[in-house]
Amino acid sequence: MSTVTIDRRVFLCAPLAGALVTARAWAQTAPVSAGPADPKLIEDLVAANRVLADQGVVDGYGHVSVRHPADPQRYLMSRSIAPEMVTAGDVMEYDLDSNPVDARGRASYLERFIHGEIYRARPDVTAVVHNHSPSVIPFGVSTAPLRPLYHMSAFLWPGVPVFEIRTAGGPATDMLIRDASLGRALAGSLGAGPVVLMRGHGAVVVGGSLPEAVFRSVYTEVNARLQAQAMALGGPVTFLDPEEAKRAQASIAGTMGRPWELWRKKALAR
Ligand SMILES: [Zn+2]
Repeated sequence: MSTVTIDRRVFLCAPLAGALVTARAWAQTAPVSAGPADPKLIEDLVAANRVLADQGVVDGYGHVSVRHPADPQRYLMSRSIAPEMVTAGDVMEYDLDSNPVDARGRASYLERFIHGEIYRARPDVTAVVHNHSPSVIPFGVSTAPLRPLYHMSAFLWPGVPVFEIRTAGGPATDMLIRDASLGRALAGSLGAGPVVLMRGHGAVVVGGSLPEAVFRSVYTEVNARLQAQAMALGGPVTFLDPEEAKRAQASIAGTMGRPWELWRKKALAR
């Protein structure tokens, strides 16, 4: 009788002990929080998600993040839901390996490594948008480079590279940036620029602030649409030259708050 009891205890305890070891290992490796972020920043992040949906840059897919102001090794991003539905309670904190600080059962975006690896590679970047913005897709799969056509998209003047996932991930990926190695390769293609296109997938847009990353995402989409229209008219297209573009970018930078406040107000009103 006692033998049976002992055997049963061993049988029952083995999986429990395993679970405890796993939980302890997780507790040891889970990143430490940088602390609560300013509620105004969280509200801006919620607004950014909704604005990008309102402006047709994201749909059910796509994501936007912001670097944690208290620790450059952390960033904030929604759990895995459609951007238009994001609320403050959905915002999670990640380290630059894109491990969640406190998941509490919430699912993370598969492609969160885009954000972590760009924050690691680009100390100047404070916000990152990943989208499948429809008008930019043709420029990732053709030989026509995306170039600034008008003053609102002057920030594109450094050039817009195209990331080829076959180079980094081999011939048979599912096109998604689903690990840190692909995220690093994508950050390498972005280089020091504001935008990188992803062949057959979408784009990543970065900025020194959330409003700037949102502004750039919106006007990258608009520029792509206008450029395709101009090219369809036939004949050569006149783009901004680098000097014009640098001056236009400087002028527009001082007015970026105007559309942001409008978009933000509308997005948070519902
Ligand atoms: Zn994607």
